[in-house]
Amino acid sequence: MEHVQHDFSREAFLGRAGIGLAAACTGEALSMAQAAAAEPSTPRLEMGARSPADALEKLKEGNVRYVAGQPRSGPQSALLVELASGQNPFAIILGCSDSRVPIETVFDQIPGNVFAVRVAGNFLNDANFGSIEYGIAVLKARLIIVLGHTKCGAVSAAVSYVKDGTTQPGHIATIVEAIAPAAKAAREVPGDWVANAIIENVRHNMRKMTAGSKIIADAVSRGDAEVAGGIYDLHSGRVSFF
Ligand SMILES: [Zn+2]
Repeated sequence: MEHVQHDFSREAFLGRAGIGLAAACTGEALSMAQAAAAEPSTPRLEMGARSPADALEKLKEGNVRYVAGQPRSGPQSALLVELASGQNPFAIILGCSDSRVPIETVFDQIPGNVFAVRVAGNFLNDANFGSIEYGIAVLKARLIIVLGHTKCGAVSAAVSYVKDGTTQPGHIATIVEAIAPAAKAAREVPGDWVANAIIENVRHNMRKMTAGSKIIADAVSRGDAEVAGGIYDLHSGRVSFF
């Protein structure tokens, strides 16, 4: 059996692509590559972002296109060869596994733009932290979004657990216990407990993002990255950012 050695460093990716690291970090270099690869009839979405604010704007614009039913991400076959040699995602999104919230789709992004980390209930654990740190330290993504969604079953289960001790079988219990602190914190907030817990769970994990990782905290303090939150509305498809 052939042994395939994986080299995950950004330098290795870009080295194989024959692109200098400094040049590849600039939007200009990527725009040139994009222009060369794009077919004239189907203008392709940009890759990379100039700043955390630019990255957030791209996600907001993509979600507006998704809600309007006017996606631009289109067929992707022309991208495959280019992406095989390296990736340069501009955003990292910690989202729920819920099948109704497919991350690239709801932000209308092409492959290569979003480094997605998904787990039911969109919460941080050690492995998720490692994935996100890789996205920041090696891939140089500019933005981290914690994305919750309305009617999240994982958060509902955590609220039931806090409310009346309802437990879940097997490893599902691990998820519920991880979200329970956010469910508890939302208990006294006026309004719907589950809806408030969904928001609190996003905020809790946004705070944890920098409090629990020096790599992420340092990138944020340098201004290289930002952490934001969002709630995806299952009815409208719209993401409210905060
Ligand atoms: Zn969910």
